[in-house]
Amino acid sequence: MNLKDTIRVIPDFPEEGISFKDITTLLKDKDALKDAIDQFTELAKDLKIDLVVGPEARGFIFGTALAYNIHAGFVPIRKPGKLPHKKISQEYVLEYGKDSLEIHEDSITPGQRILIIDDLLATGGTLLSTARLIEQLQGEVVSIMTLIELTDLKGRDKLEKYDVHSLVSYP
Ligand code: 5GP
Repeated sequence: MNLKDTIRVIPDFPEEGISFKDITTLLKDKDALKDAIDQFTELAKDLKIDLVVGPEARGFIFGTALAYNIHAGFVPIRKPGKLPHKKISQEYVLEYGKDSLEIHEDSITPGQRILIIDDLLATGGTLLSTARLIEQLQGEVVSIMTLIELTDLKGRDKLEKYDVHSLVSYP
């Protein structure tokens, strides 16, 4: 199975010049969805992960399935104003825009082994902010996984101190 064949590329979305990788076509393909989750599971199964952490919204999709498979918990990272309990925030720069991310203060116990997952690594801003939130709560970022990596944007450089895996890449 070539996962790339199931990802739809949309030119000029959400802005001119952005080549958007639409994963909804992968998600609705039962074989592709299984293959992606199986690959993440294989990469993660021996890492003794306590918690999978995924940023809103596409990180939730892969994150909960992976957490279930490796018998870990799942913690959501959310956009401002969505989490109901005490939280900490981190500002970040997107491929197209700026925003901040939040995590519940009590979602991680110091020393817990954390795997971060998202659908796509572009500039790396989202994943770096996520890692910083986890580290502020004294979690250990053991690995970072994404379905897609946009290599020309060099997000991996920003994440050089981490173990980063992607399943497919585009320039
Ligand atoms: P970064 O922070 O690495 O620049 O951007 C990654 C974040 O933006 C991810 O959370 C991802 O969901 C979203 N994103 C940016 N570009 C794309 C894209 O082409 N396709 C999809 N599915 N998500 C994107």
